[in-house]
This record gives sequence, C-alpha cells and structure tokens, in this order.
Amino acid sequence: MVKCNACGGTYEPVLSDGMEYYHKCPPLSVVELAAAVAAGKVQLPVGETPDIAVTRRSYERSNQRDENIQVDPRTGASSPKSVGAGTTAQAPAPPPVIKVG
Ligand SMILES: [Zn+2]
Repeated sequence: MVKCNACGGTYEPVLSDGMEYYHKCPPLSVVELAAAVAAGKVQLPVGETPDIAVTRRSYERSNQRDENIQVDPRTGASSPKSVGAGTTAQAPAPPPVIKVG
C-alpha cells in the first residue's frame, strides 16, 4: 500500500486480481477548495462560493500525481505523466474478511 503525498489517497499499486493500478489525484473537494480560498491560494469569481465553484470547473492540485503512462513518440520511452509530490510506502492492507454462514 502507498499513500499519495499530494492528495492523501491510499492504494495498492497492484490490485488483488493482479491488475496494475495507475493513480491520478482527484480534483479538489469542496472542503479542500474552501481551505485553498481561505489561505489565499485560489480566488473565486465575485459572489461564487466553493460549493458552486466545484460544480462549474475542476481545481487540480499543483503537485498532483498522474501515474498513467505516456510514451515519447521520438524515443518510445514510457514514463508516468506526472510524479507530482510522490508517494510514501504504507503497511500492506489487511486481507479482506469474508463472513460465511
Ligand atoms: Zn493523489
């Protein structure tokens, strides 16, 4: 399990069925946008509140992570679209509990 240093999301890079997972940070939530506005990092149009703003446009993190692969057409080299703020290793997720009977 890893934790995204930009959005705080936690995920397994390889899912239980063996498929690889490529994380991309979600846009700011209403709470995160309100905090960014209060901190003076974002200025909304006059009269617009954060809960209205998130329905009209997406607010991306400046340090967002996007692990989806891009290929350089000149060299054929592949790399993540953006490493962003990176990740921090976490303890493995506990195995799922299945109740029977
Ligand atoms: Zn993220």
